Amino acid sequence: TLTTDEILTKDAHLIQSFANLDALKQDSARTAIVRGKGAYVYDSEGNELIDGIGGLWCVNVGHGRQEIIDAVTAQLQQLDYYSTFYNFTHPAAAMLSEKIASLAPGHLNSVYFSNSGSVANDTAVRMLHHYNNRLGRPKKKKILSRIGAYHGSTHLAMAMTTPLYSEGWDTAAEGLVHHLKCPNAYREAGDMTEAEFLDFLLDDLREAIESLGAENIACFVAEPVMGAGGVIVPPEGYHKRMADICAQNEIKFVADEVVTAFGRLGHMFASEDVFGTQPDIINTAKGLTSGYQPLAATIVSDEIYDVISRPGGMFLHGMTYSGHPAAAAAGLANIGIMESEGLPQQVQTTGKVFENSLRALEDMDIVGEVRGSHFMMGIEFVKDKETKEVFSDEHQVGLRIAQAAQKRGLIARPLGNIAILSPTLILTEEEIARIGVILRESIAEVTREVR
Ligand code: PLP
Repeated sequence: TLTTDEILTKDAHLIQSFANLDALKQDSARTAIVRGKGAYVYDSEGNELIDGIGGLWCVNVGHGRQEIIDAVTAQLQQLDYYSTFYNFTHPAAAMLSEKIASLAPGHLNSVYFSNSGSVANDTAVRMLHHYNNRLGRPKKKKILSRIGAYHGSTHLAMAMTTPLYSEGWDTAAEGLVHHLKCPNAYREAGDMTEAEFLDFLLDDLREAIESLGAENIACFVAEPVMGAGGVIVPPEGYHKRMADICAQNEIKFVADEVVTAFGRLGHMFASEDVFGTQPDIINTAKGLTSGYQPLAATIVSDEIYDVISRPGGMFLHGMTYSGHPAAAAAGLANIGIMESEGLPQQVQTTGKVFENSLRALEDMDIVGEVRGSHFMMGIEFVKDKETKEVFSDEHQVGLRIAQAAQKRGLIARPLGNIAILSPTLILTEEEIARIGVILRESIAEVTREVR
């Protein structure tokens, strides 16, 4: 077992993701997580922390589940690796693809596996490239995404991600991606009613189609609830109406359910059950294995699969680890736990308790808005609740509140002036109440400092 100092010395060679690397060089306050059990993780100093962000919106069934560990171990003993290239397959990938098809909306029955949400999003675009080529319309390539979206960090997924995250990177996919307006009512709707705001967003889509030409647009990619963009739930009816306009223009609707699938919103998939839409493609990752193994899935409609599997062509796309046996075994065991424990159904109750307990923080002086759904929540902090004026960057309000929470035994994720909470889905009502108390104390502490 390494001491904290030993870990941090070695860590000087590790490049963290989305990190202020300069600050990390000076900062001895890094946290080394060394163990996880249930809803908790433990740092190298022995502190117990409620994992309020579920690893990274992914450890849905909680840490240390023996069933998943045993399934992965048994799979590695039986077959460590084989590919799903050419005519090869293996039982774990086959069984998981069948399981996912049985859980996804009825017309989505074919699954391509990759290793991350970013690659799942790239894969959906590649899939549609093949689809449109087979239909003799190679120009239908452009992608509609949204300001505020997060779709990943590969070349294309980062181009689809909000330009705010990837300054200058838009040139990497020059002209390929068009960003529609963000459905953030708190920041963007001004005096509009919810219905007017919806019309405004629909008009933006219609205008984009008009100016780019439907014949040039392959797809519209959207998270059901924007995650890293600040947990944005769109206006009522948004996804359904956007999907209808896309369908009228033969633009495929790709739902990025990397975060929202596998129970976080109280259902295995959110697109149909929460938002009443039937996407042409659903991408998912994270909760698919609860993070125990890296695995993502691009789930495509029968209509798309029928076209790309027509005689006279090849599906020219492949990844060494597509459907890796150990990852597929983890996915099967993870979904098995969710089904046997009725976790999505449980979330319909406990997730609402969580949501309401966080919404109660809106009475605090610097809490502008608490938003989200079930176990996917964001708290936006403002200097002035009336004008919604933000704190300047040097206040680092989100970061300070996360640090204050960690001192009290809770990990929250800072994102500028927002704190994200996306815990494991197994929290008890007592643990939910404790999170509410810790957040209230932490916000009060930081309010005293910045006022
Ligand atoms: N899509 C969404 C909605 C995400 O939140 C993320 C990651 O947080 C991704 C895609 C990218 O997934 P990954 O980090 O596994 O590549």
